[in-house]
Amino acid sequence: MMPYEEALDIVLSFCRSLPSEKVFIVDALNRVLAEDVVSQEDRPSFDNSAMDGYAVRWEDIKEATEKSPISLKVIGEMPAGGEGSFKVERGTAVKIFTGAPIPEGADTVIPVEYTETKNGMVFIKTSLKEGANIRRRGEELKAGDVVLEKGTIIRHYEVGILASLNKINVEVSRKPRVAILSTGDEIKDIGEPITKPSQIRTSNNYTLLAGVLSAGGIAYHLGIVEDDPEKLKNVLSQIGEYDVFITTGGVSMGEKDYVKTLVSELGVDVKFHKVRIKPAKPILFGTYNGGKGLFFGIPGNPVSCAIAFDLLVKPALLKMQGAKEYLPKTFKAKIKRDFYRRDAERREFVRAVYWWEGDSLVCDFSQKLQSHMLTSYVGANCYLVVKEGVKEIKEGEEVELILF
Ligand code: AMP
Ligand code: MG
Repeated sequence: MMPYEEALDIVLSFCRSLPSEKVFIVDALNRVLAEDVVSQEDRPSFDNSAMDGYAVRWEDIKEATEKSPISLKVIGEMPAGGEGSFKVERGTAVKIFTGAPIPEGADTVIPVEYTETKNGMVFIKTSLKEGANIRRRGEELKAGDVVLEKGTIIRHYEVGILASLNKINVEVSRKPRVAILSTGDEIKDIGEPITKPSQIRTSNNYTLLAGVLSAGGIAYHLGIVEDDPEKLKNVLSQIGEYDVFITTGGVSMGEKDYVKTLVSELGVDVKFHKVRIKPAKPILFGTYNGGKGLFFGIPGNPVSCAIAFDLLVKPALLKMQGAKEYLPKTFKAKIKRDFYRRDAERREFVRAVYWWEGDSLVCDFSQKLQSHMLTSYVGANCYLVVKEGVKEIKEGEEVELILF
């Protein structure tokens, strides 16, 4: 059976880059930047005050103490956005507010809490370092600096950064168009009545819809089809309209598992079927449209579905969009409890939680180990990776985790 790394490499090798398009910066959320974004100006663009206080000449106040304050004549006020043309000469100060330009001649700002005022004079009760509380022009950025690189995934921080650079529209990768289809006679959509005890409610359709959106894709919900070759073939024949087509269920070894045969008939070039992982072993991957379209046939168990998405589909969606970081992120922690399993053939991904204890990272795993138990994700924030051949992990051992 194929190891996970090899399966991932195969999937990634078929991820062609999508073209880009210009969108309003807020619509760029969760998407991948397709241009380097350069600052047009220095930031800050002028020297300004980091505090509310008094702009002074350091020479004047360098000896100031609580016991022997230095008095200066207040010659004016500089609010944020103010344009006063004061000149701070020896013996004078300007009242200043956070973000206001530093008046000519001043080189230090004394915060208001170290001062007292009386009759147009300010008494400075402490000395600070020369230049204290001044935000210097260009200390954050210089004109021409590349602020955000092509391939950056845009979060709300980057949206704010783009706004501050006066970018209104930004070049991002086109969203991958992803179709989602569940298969199974027993599967009912949300809101549909359950009329027989053997029927179950879908989670997979919605896990995948939300997963695709959060990975920057556009999700097309094709619903649920019964295990009926004709009906299935009918829906699957639209495959060419999408960049990625995902089915869940019907990909194992059962008699009603038609997906593999049908997609092969429809021209999908199957690259692998079965990966040495637990859960999601029977996952099928192939390409269509001359290698441009990616087909994922994911097994129906809800945990298998989520894991297959996280470990194979999401990296593919990110890579297609040109993201610099598209691989699942791994890290290490000490396990808090013994883990044991009987069958160590496959690499297992167990829902787990990590947290800080003092200055070390520790983790524990869900009691719900089986692949039909989607609530094993409740409170989980990572997968515990149990490598092939490992039956037992002892409390205190360092283990590998994959961040959700
Ligand atoms: P299958 O991969 O078709 O053999 O299905 C494996 C298990 O997953 C069965 O117990 C199915 O009932 C269940 N299952 C299949 N599709 C879904 C779905 N969309 N949502 C939740 N469970 C599902
Ligand atoms: Mg089924």
